[in-house]
Amino acid sequence: MTLDVLAFGAHADDTELACGGTLIKLAGMGYRTGVVALTRGEMATRGSAETRAREFEKAAQIMGLASHQMLDIPDGRVEVTWENKLKVIAEIRAHRPRIVVAPYWVDRHPDHENASQLVRASVYLAGLKKIETGQEAFRPGKLVFSQGRFEFSPSFVVDITDAQAQKMNAIRAYVSQFHHPDQPASAPGETLIGRPEFLNHIEDRDRRYGAQIGAKYGEPFLVREALRVDDPVAFFGPEYRWTIP
Ligand SMILES: [Zn+2]
Repeated sequence: MTLDVLAFGAHADDTELACGGTLIKLAGMGYRTGVVALTRGEMATRGSAETRAREFEKAAQIMGLASHQMLDIPDGRVEVTWENKLKVIAEIRAHRPRIVVAPYWVDRHPDHENASQLVRASVYLAGLKKIETGQEAFRPGKLVFSQGRFEFSPSFVVDITDAQAQKMNAIRAYVSQFHHPDQPASAPGETLIGRPEFLNHIEDRDRRYGAQIGAKYGEPFLVREALRVDDPVAFFGPEYRWTIP
């Protein structure tokens, strides 16, 4: 099944937090979007692999994804190996996305940093004909990085104003991971992301990046190379007047 955008995360819920608003917005515009979680999340403090799979399923429905997939790379052991590259290459070739989204390469969680490297290498390698996966070689048009815990100065910010409420619904589908009104704050295995403040921080961040582009909510993205603009007059339309510092 071909996709316009394919976002990779180490764990279920990573992509919802980092670029859920953008995926929801694009699905609403008629683009075909997909998510690949590299692991089943079995090392999480709260929730079993089975619970997380159900939550992943529900979040995918809320985001209107055309495809969602969990790979079997061991959680806590996302390593940049040839075997794992072949798994990611196979996903890229199966879905032939125009844009691949990977986690930012600086993060607190080693799985996130390794996922970033793994996806970056695989985006390139997927285009090499002599790497055999039984599929046609394919290289996506663009690789963009989404933000995790560490902030970067974005190459561009997507206006997610109309998708932000739905993004929070997708995140709340992970009942085992994030604060839920029915769950006591002092539930066993209290985690950083399980605190009630965590969801407020996500919303605050979306608001802060939105403010940078004159929108209510936004999600930041980073690319390593210069962005090509063929017609700067059309590109920098009237909405840009709000972004002059
Ligand atoms: Zn994660």
